[in-house]
Amino acid sequence: MDVSRRGFLKLSGISVAAFASGLGFNPAVAQAKGYTLKLEGCKKIPSICHFCSGGCGMLLYVREGKLIHLEGDPDHPTNEGTLCPKAASLLSVANSTNRVTKPKRRRPGADHWEDISWEEALDIVAKKVKEVREATWKANDEIVNAKTGQKEMFPANRAEGIAFLGSAEVDNEESYLISKFCRLIGTPYNEHQARI
Ligand code: SF4
Repeated sequence: MDVSRRGFLKLSGISVAAFASGLGFNPAVAQAKGYTLKLEGCKKIPSICHFCSGGCGMLLYVREGKLIHLEGDPDHPTNEGTLCPKAASLLSVANSTNRVTKPKRRRPGADHWEDISWEEALDIVAKKVKEVREATWKANDEIVNAKTGQKEMFPANRAEGIAFLGSAEVDNEESYLISKFCRLIGTPYNEHQARI
């Protein structure tokens, strides 16, 4: 049988329609099957979106340490399964080859950054915090006594050289720990980016 290009396309369309209706082909079933196959072997991890303070719930599907899929958590009271475009694009953020996953250091005089271990990075930060805290510690404040008009010294106990700047990426639990840490080292300067 000779079939023209146009005729072939028509025939194909008719065949697909006949297959879909006559043999019970259901696109929704195929879609569900594809979804199941995609997530096969994945561990489902409930999480919270870190982008803004909305705190929407997400379900992360991870296989062999790699994020395969994410979606809104239908049981989460904030978003009930929905996600805004920022969160919906998180898969690309997590799997981006440009993502920095190790601490980096540019040594004095160097013209490049090098990867260092987390232990080394934490040691550097801890030493620096101690050094700055000791150098800028304010034990007392000189205050004029309103009654006597005389200057008097009062205990201050402040680390004046250290400040913490929070971020919209910081969640409730991290904020709690940061405020505890600020009090521990004695700095009153705990600010948030939204107020700058
Ligand atoms: S899903 Fe969107 S609205 Fe919800 S917390 Fe994330 S960024 Fe905010």
